[in-house]
Amino acid sequence: MPKKKLVVLSGAGISAESGIPTFRDAGGLWEGHDVMEVASPQGWKKNPALVLDFYNQRRKAAKQAQPNDAHKIVKRLEDYFDVTVITQNVDDLHEKAGSSHVIHLHGSLFQMRSSLDENLVYDIEGDIHLGDKCPKGSQLRPHIVWFGEAVPLITTAAEISIDSDVFIVVGTSLQVYPAAGLIEYLHRDTLKFLVDLNPPSVDYIKNLTIIADKASEGMRKVMEKLMEIFPN
Ligand code: NAD
Repeated sequence: MPKKKLVVLSGAGISAESGIPTFRDAGGLWEGHDVMEVASPQGWKKNPALVLDFYNQRRKAAKQAQPNDAHKIVKRLEDYFDVTVITQNVDDLHEKAGSSHVIHLHGSLFQMRSSLDENLVYDIEGDIHLGDKCPKGSQLRPHIVWFGEAVPLITTAAEISIDSDVFIVVGTSLQVYPAAGLIEYLHRDTLKFLVDLNPPSVDYIKNLTIIADKASEGMRKVMEKLMEIFPN
């Protein structure tokens, strides 16, 4: 029998135990910055050097970080389910944990792109400097979807989500659309779980189990429940 389809929608909270701070828990600041300063086209236009420096630092921190038990359980779910991870995170901790199918809805710290042509995307391990140009002559920028920018992968993510048998939301405040909307379009009978230290209110969602816990412990409980519901 083919494996059941399971989707994990993750946010900054899944990486908190790996030492990467979320931003809403810090009063809407991302590492001390107003998000519009470092994660919007206006912020980029106003001060590209600050924006490059901000993501250069985030990239260094992400390189040091290790996946925690929550990322590892997401990987382990592949033993039983056909798993797709849809992450809002720009770190690479799902990949470091070994997950096979990861969609980075909001881009990745480990890619940069032309500011003229969004199709010119390159891998990056080190820093991006002011003056680093794409072949078309424009400044290279982080390949991150900033506030106010389109989310090109949302259609793919929606198609995969709608098709899921199990949908797990972990560590996201569900404040950032269109990612937050994915949970609203699922079938009634899709089995849904939400793991968050401080769960957002989504009482209107049917067939949803809310686990108010840190990501590692919450994912352990989800795994336990799934093994009860789908014994081998
Ligand atoms: P958010 O900061 O808005 O919300 C974080 C959520 O995680 C909150 O609901 C909080 O209660 C929960 N949380 C905090 N610590 C937790 C823990 N230990 N275990 C379980 N839950 C915990 O994050 P978001 O919803 O992902 O949206 C933020 C945006 O900021 C995203 O677009 C993302 O790209 C970006 N961001 C990414 C990273 C990263 O890549 N690790 C870090 C910060 C921000």
